[in-house]
Amino acid sequence: MTVKTFIFNPFMENTYVVSDDDTKECAVIDAGCLDKTEQSSIEHYIKENSLTVNRLINTHLHLDHVCGNNFVSRTFGVKPEAHKDDEFLLALFGAQAVAFGIAGTEPACPLGRYIEETGHISFGNITFTAIHVPGHSPGSLCFYDKSSGTLFAGDVLFRGSIGRTDLPKGNYDQLIEGITQKLFVLPEETVVYCGHGPTTTIGYEKIYNPYL
Ligand SMILES: [Zn+2]
Ligand SMILES: [Zn+2]
Repeated sequence: MTVKTFIFNPFMENTYVVSDDDTKECAVIDAGCLDKTEQSSIEHYIKENSLTVNRLINTHLHLDHVCGNNFVSRTFGVKPEAHKDDEFLLALFGAQAVAFGIAGTEPACPLGRYIEETGHISFGNITFTAIHVPGHSPGSLCFYDKSSGTLFAGDVLFRGSIGRTDLPKGNYDQLIEGITQKLFVLPEETVVYCGHGPTTTIGYEKIYNPYL
């Protein structure tokens, strides 16, 4: 499994392309590519490595994580998938885009399919298990690959921090409970790829995260 990280849009959001080295199938997680330069960089990477985009999945549906969905959907013929409890955020996309000065973007790309809270997402020989950890947003999902010990945490957990809970339908207690009960039970060596900032591990956060 290969993980390629892109840092996109004014929010410095991490977009991941996760590919299966055997089949060359890949999943794009949280397509945040906003301008032409960002869009060409992800397209170039996918073409140069002869990858086939099999899934376009979202940890959650905040603006900075979905603003590249239209491009990836159109370019590679896939539809975004996410938890249904975050779908209301797509209706807020246009107003938020204007508020954050990225007006001119088209309406949010509609979802093609819902991911259930303990659902599985497969591409090539890789299977992610979805873990529902609400609180940053009501439909926040983490994607866990047990065989490689990898977790894509979206904005649930960061190195030394947690997601903010002051956005629509955020809930601090729910977020803390979810991280403690659903993420801190994973093996300590699990590598955590966050929605912003550097990677971390479950073991590191158990010791050093001041919120937990
Ligand atoms: Zn977010
Ligand atoms: Zn974010």
